[in-house]
Amino acid sequence: MELSSSGTDWRRAACLKEDPELFFPIGKTGPAILQAEEAKAICRGCEIRTQCLAWALEGKYDYGIWGGLDEDERRTLRRKQGRARDMGKVGLNL
Ligand code: SF4
Repeated sequence: MELSSSGTDWRRAACLKEDPELFFPIGKTGPAILQAEEAKAICRGCEIRTQCLAWALEGKYDYGIWGGLDEDERRTLRRKQGRARDMGKVGLNL
């Protein structure tokens, strides 16, 4: 499955009424871990999570929680997609 963010209705985003700072934790320890988990929990309930993740991957956003994944998780996913593409198959398991 090829991911795409085209035609995304961002008005359906679960984070619209949340504090944007929540999705940009500073650091990877202590309170930042809890903050990231809180943001990811919101993403898990988001109707447009897949499209949001595709948008982040297309734009290669290197910081913040997008589509329920942090920057390290997106980097890992990009590598997996690259390998899958090389092998002729592309998939996404959310
Ligand atoms: S997946 Fe997360 S960051 Fe993306 S629109 Fe939904 S709530 Fe916002």
